[in-house]
Amino acid sequence: MTDLFSKFDALIAERQALLDSGVRDPFSLVMEQVVSPTEAIISGKRTILLGTYNYMGMTFDPDVIAAGKKALDEYGSGTTGSRVLNGTYQGHREVEDALKDFYGTDHAIVFSTGYQANLGVVSTLAAKGDYIILDADSHASIYDGCYLGNADIVRFRHNSVEDLDKRLGRLPAEAGKLVILEGVYSMLGDIAPLKEMVAVAKKHGAMVLVDEAHGMGFFGEHGRGVFEEAGVADQVDFVVGTFSKSVGTVGGFCVSNHPKFEVLRLVCRPYVFTASLPPSVVATAATSIRKLMHAGEKRAHLWKNSRRLHHGLRDLGFALGTETAQSAIIAIILPDQETTVRLWQALLELGLYVNMARPPATPAGMYLLRCSLCAEHSDEQVDEILEIFAKAGAATGYLSSRAA
Ligand code: PMP
Repeated sequence: MTDLFSKFDALIAERQALLDSGVRDPFSLVMEQVVSPTEAIISGKRTILLGTYNYMGMTFDPDVIAAGKKALDEYGSGTTGSRVLNGTYQGHREVEDALKDFYGTDHAIVFSTGYQANLGVVSTLAAKGDYIILDADSHASIYDGCYLGNADIVRFRHNSVEDLDKRLGRLPAEAGKLVILEGVYSMLGDIAPLKEMVAVAKKHGAMVLVDEAHGMGFFGEHGRGVFEEAGVADQVDFVVGTFSKSVGTVGGFCVSNHPKFEVLRLVCRPYVFTASLPPSVVATAATSIRKLMHAGEKRAHLWKNSRRLHHGLRDLGFALGTETAQSAIIAIILPDQETTVRLWQALLELGLYVNMARPPATPAGMYLLRCSLCAEHSDEQVDEILEIFAKAGAATGYLSSRAA
């Protein structure tokens, strides 16, 4: 018998070598208690959270929690069925109505996760004979949507309008084309030049899908995302998003004004062949989405936090993923896995949790410590975060090695 696990031997050995060097496993951390959107107890210690996607801090909003509890009491713990059979409750309709109001669109379809939204929409829209043109740094769920479908896949260089134009120009004029972009790219926290990219896509007769997972709640006048801020809402055909970030729960969605959009409910396999979200989840999502429509002050505070952290880290001497703060994600670029894990662990021991990211999730084989801010981080917490970075950078010798 060939052991089917033997293909993972190199990865298992690499991980073991890292653990043997005395560092803690960055991928098996447990939140023992969650105190607020910005603090948890980890290994018995109060820890500031700077590595969640809780951008707008909605997870502990009292109205959101009350809506979830009420739905749990009134509708039970789960639907035990697909949206197309017994799994559409009043709450699923209500969250789709909340999305239509939030985005100002005619249609909204809710999936069980954002991953499944991309998997379903991408694989169903583009079929055999069609082309998907996507940014090389696209999220795994977009790539997996491509692999689930039968369209031809064309990649263009990350955020390059010129390369997008060139590759679209090589495709048959009459073929169906779907250009897929992300508002915010989550590894480095950079944003897409959507105005230029959407113009190029339209010039070549392509439909456009924008994933606003990391832009919702935070960009644009109504918090719809980077596409709103870029002024291209009337030219974007589909917006995909998630409830697992600014909305503060779990679920995914796609909104559109396309008149035939509702047919997806019949043909999109990751929508049809899975159970619908629990009533408590859709109730929390609907309440949160409606509150995010009036969250201008929170948005302003999140931007202030992001800019302060970016400046502070740059002044300390860290290499960052972007020149300025382009989103609520600030990525620190590190030279190798060992340095990254040591710094990550030093931060944790000083009471700060950030995300560690490594290939293959990262572009160009990079090792990153990713910081993502929350609108609920106070000014004092941002001060404390910067002090912890200064201490950890000194304790590990990393900052002095960069200064040398
Ligand atoms: N798209 C992007 C750009 C993402 O970053 C993510 C999750 N990190 C998703 C989609 C999937 O979202 P979910 O967590 O709801 O599955």
